[in-house]
Amino acid sequence: MRTVYVNGEFVLEKDAKVSIFDRAFLFADAVYEVTSVLNGKLVDFDNHMKRLNRSMKELNFGPKIKEKEFLAFHRKLVDINKIEEGIVYLQVSRGIAERDFAFPPSDTQLTITAFTQTKKLIDNDVAKKGIKIITIDDLRWKRCDIKTIQLLYPSIAKSEAMKQGVDDAWMTQNGYIMEGTSNNAWIIKGKNIYTREADNLILNGITRQAVAQVAEQLKYKVIHKQFTVQEAENADEAFITSATAFVTGVIQINDRKMSKGKPGIFTHSLREAYIQQALATLK
Ligand code: PMP
Repeated sequence: MRTVYVNGEFVLEKDAKVSIFDRAFLFADAVYEVTSVLNGKLVDFDNHMKRLNRSMKELNFGPKIKEKEFLAFHRKLVDINKIEEGIVYLQVSRGIAERDFAFPPSDTQLTITAFTQTKKLIDNDVAKKGIKIITIDDLRWKRCDIKTIQLLYPSIAKSEAMKQGVDDAWMTQNGYIMEGTSNNAWIIKGKNIYTREADNLILNGITRQAVAQVAEQLKYKVIHKQFTVQEAENADEAFITSATAFVTGVIQINDRKMSKGKPGIFTHSLREAYIQQALATLK
């Protein structure tokens, strides 16, 4: 059985308790991060904490987190649970308060929880096969740059994808691709790689930022510009990025088969290069 982290304590998952009055439970008033683990170490941890601090600041959660402390409990969770490859899920909520709209006092203690999951990230079956996606209208709010646990619309979009027998959905606004339900969207056309600019309408993926750097090292031109569904369907290759998918090829967009129904060769080389880079910068 896993050991999880709850407000400074390491407890067995069966003994972990969070109040039903917690604002995460009642209002989705919480933010989160997912950090991947390779060789028992954390990938891009500093950037995940930077984004966590930013999310917290945008929601007026009070002072910055203590990164050293967070690094220590992430490492301890990975060690106790003997995670060689997988993830650490971290959640920070505004804490416990009466269920009314009188805002909780600013000294309310944040609720900080974390747990691990084992997952094959490198030798991954989904990445080998690639994913099929549909496009769907993006009906989310206008602050998708904040990594909150309010994932209702992505859940609807994902269930729609499942209903249609595919793996995921890319959400669109006015014919432009925004991002996947839990990943950033990319296309390749010649030596140009496109991904939408990060503003308030998408999450600025930590993997996205690392992959953009890796792509430039591989002499691609990374263009941060939105692209249409039609441009995506007519691209040479398409792929997604996230902390758990790394770089995963898209083999079908709506009814259009991409790169002969297999992850494209450039996508494959980007994935390999990203993994090498991640392995070289573990913490
Ligand atoms: N966009 C959305 C909506 C996401 O949920 C995620 C994953 N949390 C991403 C993009 C990818 O972000 P990251 O690379 O930091 O995992």
